[in-house]
Amino acid sequence: MGYLTDTHCHLSLDQFSGELEPILERARAAGVGRLVIPGIDLETSRRAVEIAEDMAGIYASVGVHPHEAASYSASVRDDLHQLAQSASVVAIGEIGLDYYRDLTPHDQQMEALVDQLRLAGELKLPVIIHNREAQEELYPVLLEWAPTVPGPNKGVLHAYSGTRANAEAAVSSGFFIGVGGPLTYPSAKELRQTIQALPQNRLLLETDSPYLPPQPHRGKRNEPAYLPIVAEELGRLRDTVVEQVVADTSKNANDLFGWLNGNSNYLIS
Ligand SMILES: [Zn+2]
Repeated sequence: MGYLTDTHCHLSLDQFSGELEPILERARAAGVGRLVIPGIDLETSRRAVEIAEDMAGIYASVGVHPHEAASYSASVRDDLHQLAQSASVVAIGEIGLDYYRDLTPHDQQMEALVDQLRLAGELKLPVIIHNREAQEELYPVLLEWAPTVPGPNKGVLHAYSGTRANAEAAVSSGFFIGVGGPLTYPSAKELRQTIQALPQNRLLLETDSPYLPPQPHRGKRNEPAYLPIVAEELGRLRDTVVEQVVADTSKNANDLFGWLNGNSNYLIS
């Protein structure tokens, strides 16, 4: 059986500091072979790169999250550009818009998003997109940006929670859809229907650790070792054996992040 890929886990946040080894041990035991750690600001981006450069099977994404958009500046952009020179950096993110928690004025969020999309284009890297209650503003920007960058795979809409129509529009423009713990929530009927309707070659698995733990672990801190619960739910929904879900979603991650098939660079060696 192949290995799972957790395409979104925030192991560079303080919540995990000093605990990386046992967390990775449990991830390995659960069959997770690769992880992507997205930064949410300059400091957590830098830390993500440090962790990724240190350990096989771990990759970093660098960027400024909409909650932190007030910290974005020309000098932060230069530092992100510099960090992205590391071979362990596979994307720009987590970037996007969040009008739900609304921690930063919308114009600042939009400015940071647009500039980081431009940065991703310059660096020829895909993007990891966060969206909460900002689809009306976000989708026009993403769908206009996507054709300006080369290649068929533009990025991922992480922790997808929007409509089926928006998901299909994003998929047609070269985006993947990130699927995590919320798929297992009893209330997520519409999300399950949306995910069921999307092509299997555009789905990625993620935990979003420490957030959004799958149903049996709700109320606790999420971690990559819980990813098989999401894979099993996806298999059930799509009437596919879990081994196929693992193989397909990890291949999708390879396609997006530019890992070569058969590359031996895994958490499990
Ligand atoms: Zn995240």
